[in-house]
Amino acid sequence: MKTLPQTQPAKSSKLRAPSAQDLPNYAPVPRSALGPALNEQGFYVGRVERNLYWITDGTYQSAFLTTRDGVVLLDAPPTIGHNIQRAVDQIAAENGVSNKVTHLVYSHHHADHGGASSLFDKSVTRIGHEETRRLLLRDNDPARPAPEETFQDRRTLEVGGERIELAWLGSNHSPDNIYIHLPEHDTLMLIDIVNAGWAPVYICNLTEDVQGYLGAPAKALAYPWKHFIGGHLGRLGTRDDVDLHQRYMADIDASVRKTLPTIDPTPYFQKYGNNMWAAVKGYLDECTDAAAAPVIEKYTGVLAAADVFTASTTFWVMESIRLDLGYASWVHP
Ligand SMILES: [Zn+2]
Repeated sequence: MKTLPQTQPAKSSKLRAPSAQDLPNYAPVPRSALGPALNEQGFYVGRVERNLYWITDGTYQSAFLTTRDGVVLLDAPPTIGHNIQRAVDQIAAENGVSNKVTHLVYSHHHADHGGASSLFDKSVTRIGHEETRRLLLRDNDPARPAPEETFQDRRTLEVGGERIELAWLGSNHSPDNIYIHLPEHDTLMLIDIVNAGWAPVYICNLTEDVQGYLGAPAKALAYPWKHFIGGHLGRLGTRDDVDLHQRYMADIDASVRKTLPTIDPTPYFQKYGNNMWAAVKGYLDECTDAAAAPVIEKYTGVLAAADVFTASTTFWVMESIRLDLGYASWVHP
């Protein structure tokens, strides 16, 4: 074995770690954003309604339905991982029902919501949108086998006398993200759109289609339901959470439209000369910060981490307003 030169790693990552006291401070997380305490194994499992349950590790969420013919699992986030089966085992034991996961529904193809799928390899039937299958075959991750059963627009899944309505209503966060409606449980599961109590993480929850993302809450609210499973953080959502998120995004959208025409890019181009990207960055960063500022002020203390991520989401909405909608774009005379 070769000896590493003295300046080499092992310790260097430690040396470069910032001291915690130098890191930025943010507004406290409102109590309303927090969910139930986790158990010793690091998860919480609770009843949504009747035989529908949800699991959280505080950051990710999964759900399952116990039926007389086995368990239907809705997403398998890898951070919850083996705790998914532990949660199922616990509920099955308490209720004297089967703990065998027979079906797994993918909300969309992303690894952070489906990366524990391969833990259920024995006799599970995977179901997902046809685009989820195409993307999973393309990305070829052994942790996420492609669904064998697919659908195009809608599919009613009936297992052990229970009904789950799956629908693809257009691209949003990802091209394949679906609406999972459990009409007999008054519940809608829609992942990576609304984080109950929290601002979206980076760029609209890392969204590929911003206009689709902005339209998704209205499609969600068009369904009848009381309980919302959004896939992230520590608690379930309500219709009020979806409504609040919708207002937050509408405020960002309106602020961008109001701010964009008021900022003059000229000084950035004067300053940076032939470095076009430096000028573009200076200008768009100023637009982002100016548009985000009133939204941050309005939602701090209302949505957790509004001060952490509103600027990032504002940038993404601004780019969609410019590039998808052509707003504030001009044609050379
Ligand atoms: Zn995702």
